[in-house]
Amino acid sequence: MPELIPELIPELKINAERIWNSLMEMGQIGETAAGGSCRLALTELDKQGRDLFVRWCREAGCEIHIDRIGNIYARRPGTDPDALPIATGSHLDTQPTGGKFDGVYGCLSGLEVIRSLNDQGITTRRPIEVVIWTNEEGSRFAPAMVASGVYAGKFTLEYALQQRDHQGISLDEALKSIGYQGDIAVGARRFQRFIELHIEQGPVLEREGEEIGVVEGVLGMRWYDVRVEGVSAHAGPTPMSYRKDALAASALMISELIELADRRETESGRCTIGELDVIKASRNVIPGAVRFSLDLRNATEQGLQAMEEEAAALIDRIAQTRGVKVTLEQIWNSPPVFFDPDTVNRIEQTTQASGLSYRRMVSGAGHDAVNIASTTPTAMIFIPSVGGISHNETEYSTPEQIAQGAQILLNVMHQAAGQND
Ligand SMILES: [Zn+2]
Repeated sequence: MPELIPELIPELKINAERIWNSLMEMGQIGETAAGGSCRLALTELDKQGRDLFVRWCREAGCEIHIDRIGNIYARRPGTDPDALPIATGSHLDTQPTGGKFDGVYGCLSGLEVIRSLNDQGITTRRPIEVVIWTNEEGSRFAPAMVASGVYAGKFTLEYALQQRDHQGISLDEALKSIGYQGDIAVGARRFQRFIELHIEQGPVLEREGEEIGVVEGVLGMRWYDVRVEGVSAHAGPTPMSYRKDALAASALMISELIELADRRETESGRCTIGELDVIKASRNVIPGAVRFSLDLRNATEQGLQAMEEEAAALIDRIAQTRGVKVTLEQIWNSPPVFFDPDTVNRIEQTTQASGLSYRRMVSGAGHDAVNIASTTPTAMIFIPSVGGISHNETEYSTPEQIAQGAQILLNVMHQAAGQND
């Protein structure tokens, strides 16, 4: 029998000023000139951020556990010692010119949930757990989301520990140097549910005037390298009709690829050509070879498959009419993720009951929750990003938006953890 979702408790409130102040205090660690944060994974500054988080959690009465890849688990015990926790969390590491909100918001909102329950003397049946996932951003150690990936069994621990930064320092060495390699097996701590609260990092909520994003899943994506081979020749003596111009053919392909995604707007179809190399480019030479990247995204696997087939067909057609050869190589395939419908419904019902405006949406960006979703019923909550800006020092959400998201997280987690009367 499904658990009943109780009515919202009106006096169960987060402390808006406290969460904002905590965000600003954390943001001072590695603060950049333009008001952002730089705390690359497993650096001294990341250590300082972790230390502050751990201190705050201990002060709030949490037990701290650390696994072998440095993921931190802060637990507020429940009354049922056998019950799995309701978990939340995100990441404290940032991009080199990151903002004060990406990741940090989800971590400190989890702490705010615990502080608010403490303030109001509420005990829950299930524990509440806040998790800090190591190296989410992937800017110091590739790949991104590596530690939640090990948790979910997507990567082995050995593989992750061997990854090296640009200086040749391994993730294993970096973990040890900041004292954050614990002895718990990665993946050993299980959760009943996992809910990640995050800034949207895109423009949709703000443009649509909505306060909360109820995130149903994450777009699937496929990455390709496209190589177009023509014939390089002198720009003057070669008439247009004789040419096999690799760049002219690529330009036609790119234009039709973008139109392909434009037609699939309703299914969150997206197409990005982020890299374009004209090989041995020269002003007065007809380009003989071009390479471009292709990133296709869609909310469903069928949509993604259809986009791939259309893309391959149009690339082929244009190659034939322009007399060039083309290869299309898939280099990455990440299927769409569908979050747990019951957890998504709980977030939606809680948002409705609180009177905030919202939309169901899919995330275009990857998050640790994507990995956790393969092991645990998982969903996400978004709040608006002002101007849709993220991975940027000017990333911002207002104190009101910060409070609204944390409030929904508190209500959803409290309900799912079950109050003891
Ligand atoms: Zn993030």
